[in-house]
Amino acid sequence: MIHPIVKYGDEVLARQSARITEFDGELQKLIEDMFESMYAAHGVGLAAPQIGISKRIAVIDVTFKENPAQKMVLINPEIIHKEGHQRSNEGCLSLPEFREKVTRPNRVTVRAQDIHGKTFEHTGEELLARAFLHETDHLNGKLFISHISALKRDLIKRKIRKLAKAGEW
Ligand SMILES: [Zn+2]
Repeated sequence: MIHPIVKYGDEVLARQSARITEFDGELQKLIEDMFESMYAAHGVGLAAPQIGISKRIAVIDVTFKENPAQKMVLINPEIIHKEGHQRSNEGCLSLPEFREKVTRPNRVTVRAQDIHGKTFEHTGEELLARAFLHETDHLNGKLFISHISALKRDLIKRKIRKLAKAGEW
């Protein structure tokens, strides 16, 4: 089932999501829905709060369907190592149309649980490293605009307020 994407301004995006403790069929169904919703929205990553569910789950496919082996599910993820720097444009399905240059570590290791509750670690670079950080941020109530200058952030917020007033957000 495709869920609508929650946009910036919704309180669920600013909240700490709850840890997953039950690795059951319901969770599997939710993860399927998350991939479906992410692809429908043309995204390469999606965190559960973005479909209004305040739980620590993220799905990632930086190849966007090109390589099914690259599909990743992160449950209760934690960033355990980061190094280096990369700077490139970043966007978010919850902030459609807004992209900004964001500096992030270039090599990141995440520790998470899989769909069966098994703990694993995975190291990613460049876009994958960025996705690990971006999606884990979501689960902590943080958006990529918290990593840009206050000036740019205020500009985006002002544009969104205008769009909201016009009923376009
Ligand atoms: Zn996002």
